[in-house]
Amino acid sequence: MRFASVVLDIPTRALDAAFDYAVPDEVRAQAEGDGVGCSGGLIGCTVLVPFSHRQVVGYVVATFDEAPAGIDPARILPIARILASSAFDEPSARVARWIAREYSCPLCEAIRPFLAPGQTVKVRRADDSSPWELVCEKSGPVDERWVSLTESAADFEPRANASKQRAVLGALSQGTVRMAELSAMLPGCSATVAALQKRGVVSVERRRHVRGGEGTTLSSATASRPEHLTKGQVGALEAVAAACAAARGDVVVVDGVTGSGKTEVYLEAIERVRKSGKSALVLVPEISLTAQTVGRFRSRFGDDVAILHSRLSAGERFDQWDLARRGEAHVVVGARSALFAPLRDLGLVIIDEEHEASYKQDSAPRYHAREVAARIARERGCALVLGSATPSLESLERCRAKSWGGVSWTRACMPERPGSARLPKVRVVDMTEQFALGRKHMFSKPLADALQGVAERREKAVLLLNRRGFANFLMCRECGAVPECPHCSTSLTYHERTHTLVCHSCDRSWAIGTPGAPMRCPVCGSPYLGAYGIGTQQVETTLADELAGKGVTIVRMDADTTRGKGEHQRRLEEFDAAECAVLVGTQMIAKGLDFPQVTLVGVINADTTLKMPDFRAAERTYDLLEQVAGRAGRGERPGEVIIQTYWASHPAIQAVAAHDRDLFMSSELEERRDGNYPPYSRLANVLCWGRNESEVRRVLDGVASTLRARIEGRRGWEVLGPADCLKSRVKDRFRRHILVKAPVGEELGALLDACVREQDKPRGVNVAVDVDAYDM
Ligand code: ADP
Ligand code: ZN
Ligand code: ZN
Repeated sequence: MRFASVVLDIPTRALDAAFDYAVPDEVRAQAEGDGVGCSGGLIGCTVLVPFSHRQVVGYVVATFDEAPAGIDPARILPIARILASSAFDEPSARVARWIAREYSCPLCEAIRPFLAPGQTVKVRRADDSSPWELVCEKSGPVDERWVSLTESAADFEPRANASKQRAVLGALSQGTVRMAELSAMLPGCSATVAALQKRGVVSVERRRHVRGGEGTTLSSATASRPEHLTKGQVGALEAVAAACAAARGDVVVVDGVTGSGKTEVYLEAIERVRKSGKSALVLVPEISLTAQTVGRFRSRFGDDVAILHSRLSAGERFDQWDLARRGEAHVVVGARSALFAPLRDLGLVIIDEEHEASYKQDSAPRYHAREVAARIARERGCALVLGSATPSLESLERCRAKSWGGVSWTRACMPERPGSARLPKVRVVDMTEQFALGRKHMFSKPLADALQGVAERREKAVLLLNRRGFANFLMCRECGAVPECPHCSTSLTYHERTHTLVCHSCDRSWAIGTPGAPMRCPVCGSPYLGAYGIGTQQVETTLADELAGKGVTIVRMDADTTRGKGEHQRRLEEFDAAECAVLVGTQMIAKGLDFPQVTLVGVINADTTLKMPDFRAAERTYDLLEQVAGRAGRGERPGEVIIQTYWASHPAIQAVAAHDRDLFMSSELEERRDGNYPPYSRLANVLCWGRNESEVRRVLDGVASTLRARIEGRRGWEVLGPADCLKSRVKDRFRRHILVKAPVGEELGALLDACVREQDKPRGVNVAVDVDAYDM
C-alpha cells in the first residue's frame, strides 16, 4: 500500500474522477492500526490531500503498491493526513461508482451516503469566485462515567455526620451506577464521589456510551414466535435459503397479502443467516419504522440490532452506525439510508414494502434503494428479499422474466393470513349515489353506521384521509378565485386554528381573518369564502360529533401532529392503550401497523390520488388502499373495509374490492406498455430551475436539442418537453423539465449527464438529472 486512489470532494469535477497520491508511512500505520476502521486499511478513509496549491478533502477508494505506469513515483504528492476512520470497503467503493454512473452524479456525491452520520465533511464556498472552505461536522462517540464501589469499600465506615457519603454508598450498594443517574438521584454529589474516589472507596470508570439504543415497547409489539410457520412462510424461507446458498445476489420477492406473516419470514431468515455467522440489513419505510416494528426485531435479536432513521439525532445515528462498523451489532434495521450501513460479512438484505415511493431518494444522489440493494447483493454475493403485499410492477415483471441483471428473480407467494385471521370484506360506496340520496356529509351512511358498530362493540377503527394530490383549499363563491401562493404556483391550504393560508411549497403564510371576524377573499373582498376539500382536523371534529358520549378515544396522526420528536410514537401508544378508539390520519397510517383489535378501516376519499398527473397514479392508489385495508381483521375478530369514492368503476378500486390484484395488474401493464412507461422503459426527469425564466428556458431547450440529436434514430428512446413542472414556480424559481424514456438496459444516466454538461449554464440556473424518477 504505497499509493492510493483518492476521489476529491469537489462536486463540480467530472464524473468518476480519482487522483493518485503517495501514502506516507505514518498515514499507513495510522490506517492499519485503527481498530474501528471498516476496511482494515486506508480504503474508505476521509483524507486531506494537496490539490492545485490548496488542501482538499477526499476519499480513498483503492490502494496499490506500484506507481501508476508512466508516472515518476517521486512526483506523486503525498496524502497530508487522515481526517476520519474508514467508513467503507472496496465493494462499497464499487457500489458508489455504479451509483454515480447509473444516477448521473459526481462520484463524491455517491460516496457521501457511505460516510459516518454527522461526520460528513462538506466543502463549500459562498459563491463561484470565493475559495472552497471545509466544514467538518463531527459527532464522534461520547464517554460516560460509571461509578462503583471498590473492594476496600467493605472496610470503610463513614463518619456519623457524613450523610452525603452514606447516601452515595447506599446508592452504589446494588452495583455500578451511571454518574448522570447518581447526580439525578443525589443532586450535588459529584464532590462527594470525588472525595470517596480519593480515598479508594469508589472507582470511576469511563465507558463508551451508545446513543439511540433506548427501546420503547407497545403492548402488542413484543409478538412471540409462532408455533408453526404457514405453508406460504415455509415456501418463502426455502426460496430465501436457496438465494443465500447461490451467493451471487439472487432476489426473492415475497408477495404476501397484508398480515400474511412477512415480518415473521424476515425474522426467521435473519436468524438463519446469523447462525451462519453473517449479518443482515433490513430496510423499512421511514414512516413504519415505529416502535412496533423495532420492538419485534429487538425482542428477537436484542442488542445485536442497530436502528437507523432520520428521527434520531446526529449523535444517536453515529453511535448506531458505529455499532455495525465495530461489528458489535449484526442486524441493522433502518430507513432508506441504512442501505449504506457498514455491516461486515453481509449475508442478507431485506426491503420491506418494496413498492414504496419513499425508497427513491429525491436529492442527489437520486438513487432507488431497491436498485442499489440489488447491486450491493451482487457485489457481496448475498441474497436480496423484497417483501410487499403490493409488489411494484417493476419487480413483478422481473420475476415473470425469471432473471434480470444476471441474477435470478423468484416470486414467493403468501396468499393467506395465519390462523383464523381472514382478509377483511371490502365494500365500495359510490359517493355520487350518496349525494343523490341527499347525504352531503363526509361520512356516507354505511361508514357512519359501521363507526357506531365499532363504538358499541368496543373495538377499534382506522380512518384514512387520502391527502396526496389533494388541496385543502378555499374558494370564493363570488368571484371563483382559489388563493394561490404568489411565489409558487400552489393552491394555499387553509389552517382553521390560526386562520391562515399556508403555502406547502415555500412555507409562507397569510392571515386572512381573526377568530370571530369573517374571512374575506383576497381578490374581491367577498366574505363568501368556503372551504373545499377537507383536512384531518375536520374529520376529527365531525367524528367527535358523531361519536359524542360514546366513550371513544380519537387519535389524529398527520404531518402536523407528529412533528415533535417522539410524537408519532406517543400517538400510536395512545391508540394502542385505549379501550375503544378511532385513529384518523393521512397515508402515514396505512402501513406497518399491526393492531389486532382493529375491525374497521374507512377510506374517506379513495380517488384523489387517481387524478394526479403521474403514470403511477393508479398503482399508488391501489397500493395505498390495499395497504390500509390490510390494517383490518388482523386478529380473531373479522374486519371490514369501507371505501368512499366518486370513481367506483376504476380498475384500481375494483381490484381492492375483489382482492384481485391480477385484474388490476393486467389492465395497468397494458396501459404502461401502450405508453412506453416503466417497467417497459426507463424514465428520467431532467429538471431545470432558476429565477430568470428566459434563461431557464434557454438552458433546458439546449439540453433537449443536444439530447434529441444524440438519440436520433435509436429505437425506444423518447424525449418529452421541455414543459413547465406541475409546480412551475417554487420559492421564486421557475421550474421546467424534460421527461426522457429509454429502453431498459441502456445507459441513461451517463448520456444525460453528458448532455447537461455540454450546456453553458449561467449563474443561478440549475439542472438536475433524476433517473428512474418518481415525482415529476
Ligand atoms: P405482515 O408483515 O405480512 O403484515 P406479520 O408478520 O406482521 O405480517 O404477521 C401478522 C400477524 O400474524 C402478527 O401478529 C404475527 O405475529 C402473526 N403471525 C405471523 N406468522 C404466524 C404464524 N406462522 N402463526 C401464527 N401467527 C403468525
Ligand atoms: Zn409558496
Ligand atoms: Zn372573491
